[in-house]
Amino acid sequence: MTQHDTHTPSDCHYCGERAIGIGVGFTSARDKDPKWICAPCSLVLEDFRRVVRMDAYELKAIELVDEIAGEYCAEIGLTDMAEMSELERRMLWKTVWKGCGTSLRKLVRSNDAPF
Ligand SMILES: [Zn+2]
Repeated sequence: MTQHDTHTPSDCHYCGERAIGIGVGFTSARDKDPKWICAPCSLVLEDFRRVVRMDAYELKAIELVDEIAGEYCAEIGLTDMAEMSELERRMLWKTVWKGCGTSLRKLVRSNDAPF
């Protein structure tokens, strides 16, 4: 079993993108995870602090990503993955990856309930 390195920023606590040296902080004396966050999420940190049920925001963000990915596929004129070049597929996954964080931050920042 590998030990999680709590001193090195890795994935963002909120969206999974590459984190920087800012942590949300410990929730108790036994908490060993500084909860590193990425630069874009650090800009809406106060909005994230308001959220009680993050899973509801994640589910809604997936809906938005579905639309974003669909728009990308329509842009390149392809809906069948077998017809996509390797570069087009990689750009699709990048669109989805970036879309997750962007959508999550957008929803959290909007102050609207995601349900
Ligand atoms: Zn983030």
